Amino acid sequence: MKLLEGKTALITGASRGIGRGIAMKFAEHGANIAFTYLSSIEKGLALEKELEAFGIKAKGYQSDAADFKAAEELVNAVISDFGTVDVLVNNAGITRDTLLMRMSEQQWDEVMNANLKSVFNLTKAITKPMLKQRKGSIINMSSVVGIKGNAGQSNYAASKAGIIGFTKSIALELGSRNIRSNAIAPGFIETEMTAALDPKVVEGWRESIPLKRGGTADDVANATVFLASDMSTYITGQVINVCGGMLT
Ligand code: NAP
Repeated sequence: MKLLEGKTALITGASRGIGRGIAMKFAEHGANIAFTYLSSIEKGLALEKELEAFGIKAKGYQSDAADFKAAEELVNAVISDFGTVDVLVNNAGITRDTLLMRMSEQQWDEVMNANLKSVFNLTKAITKPMLKQRKGSIINMSSVVGIKGNAGQSNYAASKAGIIGFTKSIALELGSRNIRSNAIAPGFIETEMTAALDPKVVEGWRESIPLKRGGTADDVANATVFLASDMSTYITGQVINVCGGMLT
């Protein structure tokens, strides 16, 4: 069963990792896909082709989600290319991990801008078209770290906690217009972002997860399909933890 037929989705940060997994899964479910990346132009072009093979319309845009004006321009371009946006997935994110004692102002600002300000930028820009069509689903990529904190990630955890507060506030503001806003909190998902970690640390994490494995981009993508689809039309303001039971 295709759950997203006739819908158009805008996904930020889809050149690799979780965002790429979401784009592929959305295309499999029949959605037209507009997606962004920051610098991975070749990966973006390759993904465009892979998505089109599902028989849907797909287009990649190089656009910095942390830039307010660029987000506005992006949404205008997507509306002009696709006619509508039914689903926004704010997925783009970065880490600049270090202990607070060593953290520079730049490391703080870069993470807050790429992870949290980006969610404000894109949501603000998408609100107008979604209000006009009186429907929409906004899905923001938080993290279990935004709920429980993590040593060495105070900037990242703060940005991800901020996303949850933002998500709930937007759900309250826009619920009466049939615009839903939810967050997903992935646990340890094995992507390029986590490939840089010490293998011993990774093995320790896998062992401590009740389901005894790291998650995959597909695990997160499946939850995202649900929140994007009409299967979740009475769900807003929620955080779904996709973490193999890590937070239990
Ligand atoms: P990833 O493999 O590092 O991919 C990040 C994606 O975001 C790339 O496509 C990158 O584009 C894009 N991006 C980064 N900064 C951007 C910006 N300013 N504007 C537009 N695009 C930008 O990361 P991931 O592991 O898939 O993570 C995806 C999301 O899930 C992030 O928000 C992350 O915080 C969250 N998350 C991940 C995990 C995990 O375990 N992996 C756990 C919890 C939450 P380029 O390729 O052009 O750089």
